[in-house]
Amino acid sequence: MTNIKDYDNNITPNWCPGCGHFSIQRALQVVASRLEIPNEKMMVVSGIGCSGRISGYMNTYSFHGIHGRSLPIAQGIKASNKDLTVIAAGGDGDGFAIGLSHTLHAIRRNMNVTYIVLNNQIYGLTKGHTSPLSEVGFQTKSTPTGSLENPIRPGIVALSNGITFLGQGFSAYQEQLIDTIVKAVQHDGFSLVNVFSPCVTYNKINTYQWFREHLVKLDEDEGYNPQDYQMAMNKLIETDGLCTGIIYQNEGTPSLLEQLQPKDASALSKMDLQLSKDHFNSII
Ligand code: SF4
Ligand code: MG
Repeated sequence: MTNIKDYDNNITPNWCPGCGHFSIQRALQVVASRLEIPNEKMMVVSGIGCSGRISGYMNTYSFHGIHGRSLPIAQGIKASNKDLTVIAAGGDGDGFAIGLSHTLHAIRRNMNVTYIVLNNQIYGLTKGHTSPLSEVGFQTKSTPTGSLENPIRPGIVALSNGITFLGQGFSAYQEQLIDTIVKAVQHDGFSLVNVFSPCVTYNKINTYQWFREHLVKLDEDEGYNPQDYQMAMNKLIETDGLCTGIIYQNEGTPSLLEQLQPKDASALSKMDLQLSKDHFNSII
């Protein structure tokens, strides 16, 4: 096993003390260490927001992209270099407001990329306003009398659109979070891990204590079967999305690149060439 510190670039994160994102950053380092991923074989791509900083705190390749666009960048990188372990990261606003269409199409495409959502149900970087995952009645500077709009339920959205791996975690349940991300990275296809990550500065409702009181831990030893689609959907509805662990995994659907490969290997190499050319053209 490599050392966790091998993945630390010694830059001190400027998240507020107590922010849930610290735990996710550490979990990523532990996952990289457990899976013995060489530093130069891992890429962390992020969007914009407090969550977006995570790519700058990893001693791996990283790319700090634009708002809501971590997924198209991550998929382009994976298509161009299939040997890289590619992690995309973003906040709840990043992935379920401006970036929602990219999230849906990444689910459909089933490319071998892991998407970590640092979900604090608020926009933290812009000093605390309502996100599409904030609850009805949630009061912020942008909704002083409370949010009127129904929140998006990310797990249900992902599952109903054909995701092949869905996990959820909580910043304070670090061991479960690490185990879930390990399985997500090992999954052959697109994996989404929605992590409840409290914003201690602006979200005074969805606190660590609130999550401890509301989250249900899914346990395979107690009969939960993540391969059962209906059971996964029922659990998400029953808990109003407030459950953690591996919610669903379908190991039978090949990833996009795998589907392309056996049909026509020469066509794939032509596609590789075209992808590399397009990639080159897009950066010059
Ligand atoms: Fe974390 Fe909230 Fe501070 Fe951003 S504003 S660093 S999300 S605690
Ligand atoms: Mg947020």
